This record gives sequence, structure tokens and C-alpha cells, in this order.
Amino acid sequence: MKNRKLLMIPGPVEFTPAVLRAMGMPTTSHVAANFIEIYGQVLEDMRRVFVSPSGQPFVVPGTGTLAMEMAAANVVEAGDKALVVNTGYFSDRFAKILERHGAIVTHCHAKVVGDAPPIHEVEAALEAIRPKVMTITHVDTSTGVAANVRELAALGRKYHALVIVDGVCATAGEEMRQEDWGIDMALTASQKAIGVPPGLALVVAGPRAMDAFRKRSRPVGSVYSDWTEWLPIMQAYEGRKPGYFATPAVNLIWALNVSLKEILVEGMDARFARHRSLSAAFKAGIEAIGLRQLPVRPDVQASTLTAIYYPDGVDKNLVKLVDDAGVLIAGGLHPALREKYFRVGHMGAVTAGDIVATVAAIESALVKAGYRFEKGAGVAAVQRSL
Ligand SMILES: *Cc1c(COP(=O)(O)O)cnc(C)c1O
Repeated sequence: MKNRKLLMIPGPVEFTPAVLRAMGMPTTSHVAANFIEIYGQVLEDMRRVFVSPSGQPFVVPGTGTLAMEMAAANVVEAGDKALVVNTGYFSDRFAKILERHGAIVTHCHAKVVGDAPPIHEVEAALEAIRPKVMTITHVDTSTGVAANVRELAALGRKYHALVIVDGVCATAGEEMRQEDWGIDMALTASQKAIGVPPGLALVVAGPRAMDAFRKRSRPVGSVYSDWTEWLPIMQAYEGRKPGYFATPAVNLIWALNVSLKEILVEGMDARFARHRSLSAAFKAGIEAIGLRQLPVRPDVQASTLTAIYYPDGVDKNLVKLVDDAGVLIAGGLHPALREKYFRVGHMGAVTAGDIVATVAAIESALVKAGYRFEKGAGVAAVQRSL
């Protein structure tokens, strides 16, 4: 019998067998010829996955939070103004990081948790503040809200802000075309839609972001995040030469090389479309059994995860009951509503079979929790949608 559960949280996610095999290879020297070649390929493939032909990739041991810190630390100086398009918990985290690096932060909040701020309010804030930096959380993992990155980035550009997108729960799942959409910096972490175990911070900086970094008047306020240290390393490996500032995560970079190649073989358009259709199927399934989503409208619902209110009479013990049925899901995260909803991630290597299994497990758990509904209606709706 297989003794493992289906992992359906918003990161880490299920990884492909080839990615996991790369993790288990005997670790080599970070200056061995075969490793240098792989690191070089990873940097080249990052540009293609972020759709950022003239971007500068940074692949560094760390997590998504480090990627956020690296983005802020290298372009922000004390007294710079920043606008945070705030859709939840991770937007608040970005504000905290920006402030720690000296930025004066203004928030543009949604009216209610589960919505994104109206575009005209973001424009009004940009016009009033003229910030140096604007941050957008592509998918706020606490609420399942997706921001309209394309529209917001164009607006940021119009007001000459450096546009930074936190794509930690989105990149390689939600549609994002960094260069075409005018995004100056996009960042993510390995364990989400990129499909590699936790441990890598991934950033791609466009030419305007690199320019802002070069024109700094003061040193970056963090040695580990400083591009002055990392840029020569990235350039060395891409030129198929070794470099050392801090030890590369050798096995994770092998695994990232495998995953980026799998992503590019699938093709970015096909990958975005798969995430959209599997998300639609999952959402159809939970709606068919009467559950309601936290995002207030379909156009703000992410396709990498779904945030769902517990129905009346059901509480957070549901997460445990779904676990008993063989599927790991996540509880609430947004402080205002933490006890009222749960989250299901469906990104990366996720398949139609995973969606069917997850909705079936949620149905079984709801029966045990005493919720009354037409059993099987969720799974049937998933199958119709697929
Ligand atoms: C997960 C996540 C983060 C934090 O990433 P860590 O790897 O946990 O540090 C930041 N932003 C968003 C949108 C996320 O989903």
C-alpha cells in the first residue's frame, strides 16, 4: 500500500518523480564542471519561464521571503516612497520589509477581505504619491485573491514607478509575461508553482530595476541580499565559469533545472491554460455542494489555489477530517478570518485526478462533520467541468 497523502496546500506542493530524483543525487562540488553547466542552464531557462528575455535572474538559497527582501533591499533607499497594492497577509509582509529598508509605505487596500482595490483608487494613489516602487501580490495566498497584474503594472509604469510583483504563489501557474507587461522585478520561491522542494529564492530583475540598483547612493542594507555580491556569481555561472559568494544549494539547483525544463516542454501557454481549467473544475466541484469562496468575484479568484468558507455548522476540524481521508489541505491564514475558511492549493504538477480525489475527500469529511448536501454532486461537477 502507498503510505503517503496527497499534498494539496498552497506550497510546498506535489513534485514530479524526476524532480525528486534530482534531489537524491550524490551532491557534487559547486565548482564541478557538470554543476556549472546546470546552473548556467537554470539561469537561461529562468528568463523563459518568467517571459523576461532581457531580465537578470538571481537564484539564491532561501525562501520567498528572502526573494521579497532581495527585491526591496536592492532598489529601495531610506526615504523612498512605496505603494503597496494590498490584497492580504503577504502584501502586509511586503510593506514590513520595505519599511525595514527605509521606505515610506502607503497602502491601497481593498474595501473588504477577499477583494482587490479598485483600479481607479490605485491610479489616484500613484498620482498623489508618485512612488519610486509599487508592489503587487500576484496571488495573495492568505485570501486566494489574484490581482490584475497586467493592468496594474501598466499603470505603475505610466507613473514611472518600479513595478515589483510577488509571484510566490503564482509564477509558472498564473499567466505572467514579465517583459511584455512592464514588470521590473518578479520573484518567487521554489516550492510553489515552479515545482521544486523549499529552499530557493528566485528573482528576475529587468533593466530598469538593475539601473535603479546601480544608481544607489548608499550600500544595500543586507550583505546576504546584496546584488553587488550576487550579480558577479550569476554572470560567472551563466558564462559557464565557477563563482563563490555563498554556497549554492547544489541539489535544489539540479531539481530546478529538471523542473524548468518540464515547464518549458509543457509550454507557458499550455501551463497557464492547465492551471485555469483545473482551477475551474475544482471551484465547480465545491460550489456544487454549496460551499462559498472567500474571493468575492470570479475575476479576483486565483487559479493556483482556492480559499473556501466552512459551511454553517462546520469548523476548522474539517482540515483534520480531510487529512483522515488522505488529502492534506491548509487552514485559514488571514488574521481577520483565520477560523472561518480553509485553503486548497492546485498548482505545479497537479493533475485532473488530484482534483477529483481532493473534492471526494472534502465530501467524505463534510459527511463526517454532519453537513447536509447531495453526496457525489461535487465530484460529478468536477467531471463535467473537465
Ligand atoms: C508563500 C508566499 C510567500 C512567502 O514565501 P516563503 O517561501 O514562505 O518565504 C510570499 N508571498 C506569497 C504570495 C506567498 O504565497
